[in-house]
Amino acid sequence: MNEILHESSVGERSLNFLEEIIESDIRQGRTRVHTRFPPEPNGYLHIGHAKSICLNFGLAKKYNGLCNLRFDDTNPVREDVEYVDSIKEDVRWLGFEWAGEYYASDYFEQLCEWAFELIRKGKAYVDDQTQEEIRQTRGTVTVPGQESPWRNRTVEENLDLFTRMRAGEFMDGAKVLRAKINMAHPNMLLRDPIMYRILHSKHHRTGDKWCIYPMYDYAHGESDSIERITHSICTLEFDVHRSLYDWFIIELGIFPSRQYEFARLNLTYTVMSKRKLLQLVQDGLVVGWDDPRMPTICALRRRGYTSESIRAFADRVGVAKRDNVIDLGLLEFCVREDLNRIAERRMAVLDPIKVVITNYPEGKTETISCVNNPENEAAGRREVPFSRELYIDRDDFMENPPKKYFRLSPGSEVRLRYGYIIKCENVLKDAKGEIVELHCTYDSESGSGGSSDGRKVKGIIHWVSAPHAVPAEIRLFDRLFSKESPDDVEEGKTFRDYLNPDSLKVVTGYLEPALADVAVGGKFQFERLGYFCKDKDSTAAVAVFNRTVTLKDSWAKIAMKA
Ligand code: ATP
Ligand code: MG
Repeated sequence: MNEILHESSVGERSLNFLEEIIESDIRQGRTRVHTRFPPEPNGYLHIGHAKSICLNFGLAKKYNGLCNLRFDDTNPVREDVEYVDSIKEDVRWLGFEWAGEYYASDYFEQLCEWAFELIRKGKAYVDDQTQEEIRQTRGTVTVPGQESPWRNRTVEENLDLFTRMRAGEFMDGAKVLRAKINMAHPNMLLRDPIMYRILHSKHHRTGDKWCIYPMYDYAHGESDSIERITHSICTLEFDVHRSLYDWFIIELGIFPSRQYEFARLNLTYTVMSKRKLLQLVQDGLVVGWDDPRMPTICALRRRGYTSESIRAFADRVGVAKRDNVIDLGLLEFCVREDLNRIAERRMAVLDPIKVVITNYPEGKTETISCVNNPENEAAGRREVPFSRELYIDRDDFMENPPKKYFRLSPGSEVRLRYGYIIKCENVLKDAKGEIVELHCTYDSESGSGGSSDGRKVKGIIHWVSAPHAVPAEIRLFDRLFSKESPDDVEEGKTFRDYLNPDSLKVVTGYLEPALADVAVGGKFQFERLGYFCKDKDSTAAVAVFNRTVTLKDSWAKIAMKA
């Protein structure tokens, strides 16, 4: 028997149900594993798709198989090459390479031939009813549907009509081709489902060649079969479609691909349907598909997520057979965990108060050696300028502190990160009583570069040298929606009513000079503030940084249990 490699799961987790199915197939000699990821190019991919991508490509990799990228492009009206290109970019960025790039539209000829074959077998007919009439005569779960008056056309007549449908003789909606199954079938999807509709619409790949387009249920299984897909994985809502998937394959006697369903990924505080995401874009409620508040892959990338963290997230979420909703916090936990390992530390102050060190010589500058990444010694150190005037964050000073406040307050001492100990001697205010400046003294013996001097102070705060600081635009994001499940809409409202009005806050931050000219996409931990990523909106004059995620880590306990 073949030894099965579990490189990604040794000692970590048990098999998920899809792995169990595959391993059972392998034991029975069906050793070939061929999956596919089948997006419809009608929008950008989101984190839910990432789950499906990791699953399909991951299973293929684990079992030495292949995974195709198939564009399910059977609906010309909503599809576009812009989406095709973005999907390819996102899949590659996530770290996967497809075995073949296919398009359902490449199979239009074959699908059409098979439709003729079903007509010849008496298993399909042309119906002159409108789609509305067809819907109304489908019956209900308890009431059988009514047969169409056109159901018993002769094979010859059906062949002739379908040929003329294809040739463009009829207007949109004038006729459809239906599978002839059973109008009383307990599964409503098998009550003579529509296979083809007339649509005089230009397709982004086939142009004007076709004016009839196959429906999802007819095209999908057949496309799987053409590509000899062994395990066709889709989301749970398709389980009722499975008998229809099988029906076409059996009637046509083609390669028996099998469909398996898993629970789609849902996340709190966001919407994930492409239709809704498109609305947000079109109505200008976000700046685009890659607005860093969106759940799309390109937005997460722009915000500073790593592909590693998204793959780790998909893995942690696991593969469920029942629908569930995952806390957005888990995604944030995963990116924090990865960035903590890889992101270099820098100092930045987002809400400055000026500190003047009165006993430090005017005009003097020295450099302080700072550790780039305590998690990774190889990242080395850097020199950060230090001078008489600094900025610290307003949060790090309190005039009337409560007990156990270890940051700066009148008369108290703190250590400047990697630098000296300072003591606050005087608080300067303006006419309105606002604090404008703190006068401090420093202990020149307290040494720079850590606590080697042996003096212990409880608080350590970050700082930047004011004359050396580089101002930058900092974008602080919060959840896009303020409701945990914006898809659950109350009466008279739409999902948009739950948009969080404070999901974006822009401030001017003061950065240490080493951040002045990093590349777009560069990722850093701003000490004590969070992880930040340089945005593509940066210009030569002003850098723009996105806050990927704060440092606070409400998931720590949960992760430790896992
Ligand atoms: P939407 O409803 O957002 O338009 P979709 O399912 O129509 O999504 P497709 O482009 O058809 O989008 O999806 C491609 C693949 O990704 C399908 O196999 C689909 O099942 C899977 N997928 C889509 N959304 C999710 C999700 N939230 N979780 C897991 N898989 C998903
Ligand atoms: Mg779909």
